Amino acid sequence: MCLTARQRKEENIMSNPDNNAAPVSSVAGQGQQMPGMKCPQCGEFIPTTIQHIIISSALVCPNCHLRLNIDRTKSGKAIDALRKVQEAQDNLERKTHSYR
Ligand SMILES: [Zn+2]
Repeated sequence: MCLTARQRKEENIMSNPDNNAAPVSSVAGQGQQMPGMKCPQCGEFIPTTIQHIIISSALVCPNCHLRLNIDRTKSGKAIDALRKVQEAQDNLERKTHSYR
């Protein structure tokens, strides 16, 4: 892994990999994106952070405490896309702050 991607401009962050195994879907909230996924057992929305998904290998449902393992081999593309989104957001924040 290298950090040089940070210098690149956001590339295709809007094009989600059509990977059905992707555990994470962005749900448009009130102006802010809340990453997370729906619990397959109780249907509760499990909020999580991009960092958590990148560094962790499992999510736990806050409602029924079901443990969801993140299959990194299957989700590699999705995690990679998330990382790019995260980087783009970081860049955007930095730009926004320097402009105002
Ligand atoms: Zn649940």
